[in-house]
Amino acid sequence: MSNPENRTSSPESDRNIRSRLIHGRAVSHRWEYSHHVVPPITASAAFRLDSAERGAKGFEQFAQDIDEASSQIPIYVYDRLGEPNGDMLEDNLAAAEGGEMALCFASGMAAISAAICTLAGSGDHVVAHRTLYGCSYSLLTNWLPRFRIDSTLVDMTNLDATRGAIKPETRVVYFETPVNPDLRLIDIAAVREIIDKENTSRDVSQKIKIIVDNTFATPYCQRPISLGADLVCQSLTKAIGGFGTDIGGAVIGPRSLYHDLIMYRKDFGGALSPRSAWPPLVYGLPTLATRMANYQKTAHRIAKFLEAHDKVEAVYYPGLPSFPQYDLAKKQMCDNRGRFAPGSLIYFEVKDSDGTGESAVRFINWAARNAYTLTLAVSLGQVKTLIEAPYSMTHAAIPEEEKRRLGLVPGGIRLSVGLEDWQDIMDDLNQALEQV
Ligand SMILES: *Cc1c(COP(=O)(O)O)cnc(C)c1O
Repeated sequence: MSNPENRTSSPESDRNIRSRLIHGRAVSHRWEYSHHVVPPITASAAFRLDSAERGAKGFEQFAQDIDEASSQIPIYVYDRLGEPNGDMLEDNLAAAEGGEMALCFASGMAAISAAICTLAGSGDHVVAHRTLYGCSYSLLTNWLPRFRIDSTLVDMTNLDATRGAIKPETRVVYFETPVNPDLRLIDIAAVREIIDKENTSRDVSQKIKIIVDNTFATPYCQRPISLGADLVCQSLTKAIGGFGTDIGGAVIGPRSLYHDLIMYRKDFGGALSPRSAWPPLVYGLPTLATRMANYQKTAHRIAKFLEAHDKVEAVYYPGLPSFPQYDLAKKQMCDNRGRFAPGSLIYFEVKDSDGTGESAVRFINWAARNAYTLTLAVSLGQVKTLIEAPYSMTHAAIPEEEKRRLGLVPGGIRLSVGLEDWQDIMDDLNQALEQV
């Protein structure tokens, strides 16, 4: 962090996000780091409080308004309440997503469950897109009903169906875009319009909030808050973490929700460890723009290659003109300079002539055992190219019939493009496709 007295160039807020993700806040009150080029990993569960008065002040300051919190040197008490690595990461995530505040959680699921459960309580209702990351689906269908929070899962690419699913008890609309795994898009601005209309006749306490899981796009490709989302959730485990070393999550949104979210985190306990906040702070976010630009260039080439391949039934990549929602992709997915940014994920279906998914199994097994650049693993957004079969892996929690109804087929493959040479990836895919 640079010394404020020495600053001669234009302020941090005028800088491109690409630079801001590398330098963070020019001055951080989170810690005295002015002599470190890289912040040290903090490894202290509790903090020395010096006096009863200072200890009392530390508790008093906790969960106060985010603006006050970030303008003074904090009195840290205990890691579950807040600590320097996570706090600095939060400042940088808020800047990246264009939100007023961010809070980090122990995983993407801890962030998603906190976001939904601070906004909805017993008797409330959630409208969600019908295709979701498997654990988010399980949270809404297995766990929240036990707390009398029910959900209606609907095809949110259909705006009339979305409107029709809203009830007087609805408090949250939840979706991913692009959707995991089929990469369908949901029009954030159009959903905002529907909710605004619905909210005009509602009391403040009953207004519906929109939560968008922005894990697939990352803030490099899409900033849902600027398009009308109230809260954004991120799995830091994926492209923001980028190197695949740690699990983490974040919620980004307005300062009005800061208090409830930080109290929820304190009491439910899903705080991010400082050791897991450090890699995304020091490696992940600072390289996000560079990695995403490279991933995308390769993803585009691979999507075109797959589209032309006779063993491939269908390819879904928002950057292809054949993508069914190409116009929406161009409108909604762009970097902060306004350039089209369709992301690093591709979903494709290998030819499955007998309907058993056997050809996909041969493809996957060949790739897993023989391909140098293709790794069979869940997760995404890493430096290595990862493939998986959502039908039997990440989306196994969704019942068989439901998956078929959603259009998820055993031959579907999710490809998360990495930083390898694009021709090497293509060679490996080409050979794996010979097994189909
Ligand atoms: C991985 C993932 C999550 C869950 O994140 P964890 O860090 O694994 O808890 C949520 N949503 C999407 C879209 C994901 O890909």
